[in-house]
Amino acid sequence: MKAKTISILTAIIMVISMVTILPVMTVSAETYGDYEYTVIEDGTVEITKYNGSATTLDIPSEIDGKAVTQIGKYSFASNNTVKNISFPDSLENILEYAFETCPLKQIDFGNGLEYISVYAFSGCKLIESLTFPESLEVIGWSAFEDCYGLKSVTFGNKLKNIGWYAFAKCTGLTTVTFPDSVTVIGDGAFASCSNLSSIYVSENLISINEWAFSSCHKLKDIYYTGTKAQWNSISVGRSNQPISNAAVHYNYDPNHVHNFIGEITTPATCTNDGIMTYTCTCEESYTETIPKTGHNYQVTVVPATYDHAGYTQHACSNCGDCYKDNDKEMLVVPTVTDFKVVATSAQAVKLTCKKVAGATGYVFYREVSGKWTRVGVTKTNSYYEGKLKSGTTYRYAVKAYRTENGKNYYSAKFPSLWTSTNPAKVNFTLKSGSQKVAIKWTKVRGASGYIVYMKTSANGKWLKIKTTNDTSLIKSELIKGKTYWFTVKAYRTGGGKTYNGAFTAKSIKVN
Ligand SMILES: [Zn+2]
Ligand SMILES: [Zn+2]
Repeated sequence: MKAKTISILTAIIMVISMVTILPVMTVSAETYGDYEYTVIEDGTVEITKYNGSATTLDIPSEIDGKAVTQIGKYSFASNNTVKNISFPDSLENILEYAFETCPLKQIDFGNGLEYISVYAFSGCKLIESLTFPESLEVIGWSAFEDCYGLKSVTFGNKLKNIGWYAFAKCTGLTTVTFPDSVTVIGDGAFASCSNLSSIYVSENLISINEWAFSSCHKLKDIYYTGTKAQWNSISVGRSNQPISNAAVHYNYDPNHVHNFIGEITTPATCTNDGIMTYTCTCEESYTETIPKTGHNYQVTVVPATYDHAGYTQHACSNCGDCYKDNDKEMLVVPTVTDFKVVATSAQAVKLTCKKVAGATGYVFYREVSGKWTRVGVTKTNSYYEGKLKSGTTYRYAVKAYRTENGKNYYSAKFPSLWTSTNPAKVNFTLKSGSQKVAIKWTKVRGASGYIVYMKTSANGKWLKIKTTNDTSLIKSELIKGKTYWFTVKAYRTGGGKTYNGAFTAKSIKVN
């Protein structure tokens, strides 16, 4: 039951009259419970004040048998308790400043509301959602300005006029769908709705008034039911740069049901996320991230050998990325130690060294004319070389080696030593004189000197007679008729060592 219908024009006139002229229609103030009211000209009730402290409030549809059709100017403006309010279907008008800055959270507008006047709900910052009835035709100036908490708004299909700054600074709004009935979006109606990103408008729209979407910097999509030509014929007032910057999706069909088909537009790799793009036939699309796969490393252990170092290789089977770790040094045959001479003779030397772990054998070298020449290969750690010259200095070196897969690997470094063969056995002659014996001998190669010995019985003890560089000696003061044994031994010194030649005894009976 509507006692009154209001056209846009009359509504605007009414707003102006109420702003500029103090109440003129008041007949008499009555009370009904917590309400104060008046009966207005058409015989219906306007609630003029609420004195209660309810948090949830159902506005009655009738008072004293008369329909409640108006909520009066400032009627709840001083109330700070009502959070949830329901209006009866009989309510047609909510007048200016009626709920300004009230802590309202939920509003049921009923099904008969036609007109919301200026500043009616401005500053109601706790409201999160508004659903206006189909009957609503006018939303007045600044009616919901500064409703910061407002996140969603649903308009009815009779709404024609959205007043100046009606939803300005509703920073919680992200999308707004305007019904087909809206032809004008008022000056500054959504100004500074800084999170508004999309709007849906019909081809019936004639004018976006100046400042309507000023400072809506996030506005990027406009879904428009009309054609591009129709869109271009809309009057757009100044300071609506966000409208010019947004993408307009023409021929938008509000009944269209998206059917998104995904396509990999950027494949994910081991290290970078990919992109799956979902596109509808309407060309709307969105993307999803395909998480990067991460490397799939295959591990190969390459052991160290005598040819190359060892390591563990990690190679990604997806992208080929590769790295190495767990380095192992190349295997080497150790350097020989304790290389020394064991024995020498006039024609031979015997060499030895400490056993090298893992060695297959040893290679012995002799310096010949300033060059190392391989002279022997042994499986054991000793080497005998014969057929040498007596009383001669030789230089030897040794390397260990190891045979792996038919290939020999040698110590990188090698020790060397100097040695000598012994002097040769001395050839000497004995000749007896009176109570004396003359000993003569020939020089022996490499001898540093000679030692002459004597003994008086075959099994007696050798007595050193003399050490000399000469090649002869006369032993006197011997006893006539007695037999004596003599020998001459060559010796050679070098490198702090003495090399002694072999010797044989000869006997003679003294005259
Ligand atoms: Zn679609
Ligand atoms: Zn990879």
